[in-house]
Amino acid sequence: MKRLIIALLAALLLIASGCAKKTIRYQAEFLGVFDTVTTIVGFSESKEEFTALVGRIKDKLTEYHRLCDIYHSYEGINNIKTINDNAGIAPVKVDKELISLLLFAKKQYYATDGKTNIALGSVLRIWHDYREKGISDPLSAELPSRKLLEQAARHTDIEDIIIDTKASTVYLSDSGMSLDVGAVAKGYAIERTARYFEGDGVSSLLLDVGGNVRAIGGKPGKNGMEPWNIGIKNPDKESKDTELCSVLISGYSVVSSGSYERYYTVNGTRYNHIIDPSTLMPASQFTDLTIICRDSGLADALSTAVFIMPLEMGKKFVEGLNGVEALWVTGTGEVIYSKGFKSFLKVTIKE
Ligand code: ADP
Ligand code: MG
Repeated sequence: MKRLIIALLAALLLIASGCAKKTIRYQAEFLGVFDTVTTIVGFSESKEEFTALVGRIKDKLTEYHRLCDIYHSYEGINNIKTINDNAGIAPVKVDKELISLLLFAKKQYYATDGKTNIALGSVLRIWHDYREKGISDPLSAELPSRKLLEQAARHTDIEDIIIDTKASTVYLSDSGMSLDVGAVAKGYAIERTARYFEGDGVSSLLLDVGGNVRAIGGKPGKNGMEPWNIGIKNPDKESKDTELCSVLISGYSVVSSGSYERYYTVNGTRYNHIIDPSTLMPASQFTDLTIICRDSGLADALSTAVFIMPLEMGKKFVEGLNGVEALWVTGTGEVIYSKGFKSFLKVTIKE
């Protein structure tokens, strides 16, 4: 009995000291995943504890990065490049996580009326090569010919991605097809990583992979848990305001697709990296499109799709989705919010 009381007292003391434990805000940044900067903010009792967590997160994100890579092969891993290299040849056995990502991406193709199409690789590759060449030698920058784009577009049918979930294989039945998961991979990887660490007991963390943000819970503040403050980058790089506005989120994701970071210029006109599948040309109506919703994978897929949609179509589309909000910035700098977006804004705006 005495021993039981002592054990109970010790347990109570542990709980009490646990409550009183002070946490400090830490921030870490690293390169190496998804060709961008990853920033992690968290509250830990010690630097060692936070650093160890960051290491585990980096490992997890690296796994997704390798699975989604279209340019490099990794020993012992079948990735998107392996699938592309085997187009028209043979099904490729891949990790279950890659199967889930591809199933999700296929679903998003139908949900976005074909706007986000991971089977667009052949067309995206052409734009990628012309962009790289145009950036390294601006004087010789040129647009790909219509003929070249149209030929490539013959190999972009989503139905030619054959997924066998039982065998865990993927086969591209069109030998001219290639996958590019650039529009969905970052968000999907962050969402899966966040859920993994949520399941592991992490209750407060901010993950930011190159502007794809996912919050786990809120952050500890003076009055208990408070929302995270996320700045949305101003696409107008000449403006003195680096941020367009700030949103407050707990357990949500904020993802932007912009035309202000990856583009090249031909005869004074900018051509960015998001391609409208119906015109095979870069979508040029907006300079920024930001999506807020819980699931970061969905936010990423939608950010690309709504960036391509004409404004009225995009507004209707977003209104029709539960728990999804959007912000558009037009070519003339006009900012448009979906109805519920304003409830996330840090400062209320005048109409
Ligand atoms: P970011 O790269 O800034 O995160 P996105 O999430 O919009 O922006 O992804 C853009 C990438 O997605 C491009 O670099 C390209 O690889 C790919 N992509 C471009 N247009 C499409 C499209 N219509 N459907 C699917 N993927 C696309
Ligand atoms: Mg996207």
